[in-house]
Amino acid sequence: MATPPATAPALLWFRRDLRLSDNPALHAAVQSGRPLVCVYVRDEESGHRYSPGAAADWWLHHSLTALNADLEARGGRPVTLREGNPEHIIPQLAEELEAAEVFWNQTGWPCQNERDGRIAQSLKEQGVTPRGFKGVSLINPPDLLNGSGSPYKVFSAFWRAALKELDPREALPAPDTLTLGPVCDGASLADWGLLPTRPNWAKGFSERWTPGEAAAHKQLDAFLSEDLPDYPTHRDRPDLDETSRLSPHLAWGEISPRTVWHRVKLQAEQGGQFKASDKYLAEIGWRDFAYYLAWHFEDLRTINFNRDFDHFPWRDHAEGLQAWKEGRTGVPMVDAAMRQLWVTGWMHNRTRMIAASYLIKHIGCDWREGMRWFEDTLVDADPMVNAASWQWVAGSGADAAPYFRIFNPASQGEKFDPDGKYVRQWVEELRDVPTRHIHAPWEASEGELIRAGVTLGKSYPKPIVDLKAGRERALEAYQEMKEAAA
Ligand SMILES: Cc1cc2nc3c(=O)[nH]c(=O)nc-3n(C[C@H](O)[C@H](O)[C@H](O)COP(=O)(O)OP(=O)(O)OC[C@H]3O[C@@H](n4cnc5c(N)ncnc54)[C@H](O)[C@@H]3O)c2cc1C
Repeated sequence: MATPPATAPALLWFRRDLRLSDNPALHAAVQSGRPLVCVYVRDEESGHRYSPGAAADWWLHHSLTALNADLEARGGRPVTLREGNPEHIIPQLAEELEAAEVFWNQTGWPCQNERDGRIAQSLKEQGVTPRGFKGVSLINPPDLLNGSGSPYKVFSAFWRAALKELDPREALPAPDTLTLGPVCDGASLADWGLLPTRPNWAKGFSERWTPGEAAAHKQLDAFLSEDLPDYPTHRDRPDLDETSRLSPHLAWGEISPRTVWHRVKLQAEQGGQFKASDKYLAEIGWRDFAYYLAWHFEDLRTINFNRDFDHFPWRDHAEGLQAWKEGRTGVPMVDAAMRQLWVTGWMHNRTRMIAASYLIKHIGCDWREGMRWFEDTLVDADPMVNAASWQWVAGSGADAAPYFRIFNPASQGEKFDPDGKYVRQWVEELRDVPTRHIHAPWEASEGELIRAGVTLGKSYPKPIVDLKAGRERALEAYQEMKEAAA
């Protein structure tokens, strides 16, 4: 096949890497000196298992808008939007453009890795050079194995080994200028209709979030200067709300984990905040661990990591699941969490654990039901991290919390929301309940409830599951699973 001329364009396929800085594929595409065409492919048609949910679509709309502005500011064109299966779209677009090379960063999602391989093959057959890059996580999963050559299954051992190996290269700079590529047909963001209209359930999102690369860096700056020092003690307190809130920016690749790593390390050196920065980086490590597990083991979204859980007698409890989704279970900490999710598209990590545990253990639903709801409602929905986290809570995951350690949502509330501020913020009908009963209003006297303007069963639900009975039922189900799996 003839060598393409130097004027033949480079195609850059944006995916979960909607940024210009520390973007290895973009960096290489710019280095090629070729005119640049960028594309984003929305993959609804092929029924692909990892299509973003409705809240993530909201993020995607705004993130692509921000990315377009950043590209145009550097002399480039906005991203071409195409819809369909990338397996057809990417080779087809390369052909239309007579592109010489196609650049992309791997998503780290196992089934997409396989698909990327097929796309690369098709491109080669067309005489186009495929250029895939890594960087979605700090560790490249195949590079880290234990002494016997097997993948780690326990986070602490994984992270200890990772820390010995980790020496992430400096983050790559954003290109100053881009070489304008040819105009190319595509959809508009409005055509895609990613924003909700009737009703606009995302009103609260815009008040809390600014998608895009610049906002991601600003968010990290603010966290490092204000909240990093207290992170180890405050990170579990949803009422304080002092975590970094970088998750949607990381999930959409608006900032790279490597950039975060270097910024946090620098802050530690300058401010002496070594303990806090180690703790924070270990959380970034949990994100890496999810990608690592997904790479080495079976599909985390569908298959129990611990196959004993294939025998678990999950309950088909449609009403309980619906009440959980709507934040009207009658358990304040769970309802606050689920309403925070609905209003903001995000939930604090501690309350993610409480709400997930309640659904799985007290209501008895299969963890995959909750995972799917989170995938649809979280702006930071990340198929790998979400699945690994749900399995962790269920007890079926790698290095998981044992199933029989069942969170009591009322005592979790007393511990992590001691003044009831979080509950009062999201469950307004309970705002006048005295603090000593805010996490278990069913224990308040009739007089206290009347004074607080609460009628259980009317203005606020009675618990749909008695916490003690729910716990006992969960333990019995666990026993049943163990016997069936034996
Ligand atoms: C049931 C359940 C589902 C979850 N689903 C998701 C999801 O879809 N997407 C997602 O990004 N996180 C998910 N998490 C992990 C965690 O709750 C969020 O990453 C965190 O709350 C985001 O807030 P933050 O950015 O302020 O976190 P910070 O505490 O500031 O942490 C910094 C970053 O570290 C990573 N991180 C923190 N905690 C975890 C964790 N436990 N596991 C993996 N990575 C972590 C995230 O990238 C986060 O942005 C889930 C946790 C649970 C229990």
